[in-house]
Amino acid sequence: MALELYNTLTRTKEKFFPLNPPKVSLYTCGPTVYNIPHIGNYRAYIFADILRRTLAYNHYEVMHVMNLTDVDDKTIRDSQAAKKSLKEFTELYTNEFFKDRDTLNIIPAVKYTKATDYISQMVALTETLLAKEYAYRGDDGSIYFNIKKDPSYGKLSNITIEKLEDNASGRIKKDEYDKENAQDFALWKMWDEADGDVFWETPLGKGRPGWHIECSAMSMTTLGETLDIHTGGMDNMFPHHENEIAQSECATGKPFSRFFLHNGLLLVDGKKMSKSLGNFYSLRDLIDKGYDPLAYRLWLLTSHYRTLTNFSLEALKGSETALKRLYREFLALDSQSTTGHINEAYKEKFLAFINDDLDTPRALTVMWDILKDTAVSDADKKATLLDFDKVLGLKLADQKEEPLSEEVKTLARRRKEARIKKDFKESDTLRKQIEELGYEVKDTEDGQEIHAIL
Ligand code: AMP
Ligand code: ZN
Repeated sequence: MALELYNTLTRTKEKFFPLNPPKVSLYTCGPTVYNIPHIGNYRAYIFADILRRTLAYNHYEVMHVMNLTDVDDKTIRDSQAAKKSLKEFTELYTNEFFKDRDTLNIIPAVKYTKATDYISQMVALTETLLAKEYAYRGDDGSIYFNIKKDPSYGKLSNITIEKLEDNASGRIKKDEYDKENAQDFALWKMWDEADGDVFWETPLGKGRPGWHIECSAMSMTTLGETLDIHTGGMDNMFPHHENEIAQSECATGKPFSRFFLHNGLLLVDGKKMSKSLGNFYSLRDLIDKGYDPLAYRLWLLTSHYRTLTNFSLEALKGSETALKRLYREFLALDSQSTTGHINEAYKEKFLAFINDDLDTPRALTVMWDILKDTAVSDADKKATLLDFDKVLGLKLADQKEEPLSEEVKTLARRRKEARIKKDFKESDTLRKQIEELGYEVKDTEDGQEIHAIL
């Protein structure tokens, strides 16, 4: 089945074909590196990771670029509060992000672009918009994009022109605002005292870029003027992605991104998980509470990426149990001696689900179904599950039985002797002792087998 993706631009599921196969250009709005991301942010990156893995599973070569917003209103404000240089401050949080990324088994982007490395491209784009009269210099010296000059402004988030006429009364220098405040937005912000030592001397004047122009410049410089896919969380749709589209398309005269994909938000008690509401967990919080970080990944995969999902520790506990069961059943597959083959019937089902706009909840059912299927050999199950894990990223290949401790080995030897003597009372007592140490005992035709209880 061909890959279909829900395109926010058209509000429909569309067949996906890249512009230049087998290459796919994929741009993901990355973190603003001003604090430790919360697990809601990781929903956006795990979704982008599943997309990237699915594209690769469909034999595409994915050029995945993710930006790091290392200059904006928030990074400047908080670096000053921390009395650190912008560079030192943002590098600290970039490293924290990379650590969490690896812990969650997110494949690194092919390229990470730091906004501060692309200032000249942002200036050039702003100059083009000035020359084409889509932008103007305000009386505060900053340069703004004139949204009324762009007839298609609002097409992503579906704001109507009438509504715009009512509300677009002024201009806004802040990076973040809501739909009700659609206004001319800043491309280049003239320096003021609040910016301290953060500025660039450029032909546009002494200042810094607005947040939205950063992503347009970085994505088009690295991936070309028309991208195949652009991703981010639903909260990025307006104003960030709307503004990216407007300034990019007005500058180039070409479509900016053929597909826009947005993940639903992670909620807590029905409200968006966010730093400002204080209702968040970091990945470290979950680890400190004893959860396997991949249980969070598995939990996310049990909902479709576009849904709003309510996070709770109880729900996470359920996924932790499921993950351990998966690992246990995977390790119990007896396939040392034979090489397995991918079961084509199961693969077909898995592919159909994952290619249906990344339907991970249904793809996971295929994984559980093959584990239960007695008609499939253990070796084939193993090969098929490892193949599915290229998309799911649950680290099945890394699961290894720990070697038995001397204590368990001694108990096992004594139990074997007891069974030879048909002393079943003693053998049961020894079984219990082994279980108390965290192992289960199975009696098979070839003798007793001992596995760790995960
Ligand atoms: P930020 O660092 O605030 O720019 O956010 C980074 C990414 O996380 C963006 O793609 C946001 O859309 C996404 N994001 C932020 N909060 C949530 C949430 N509660 N649930 C899902 N995604 C989120
Ligand atoms: Zn962005």
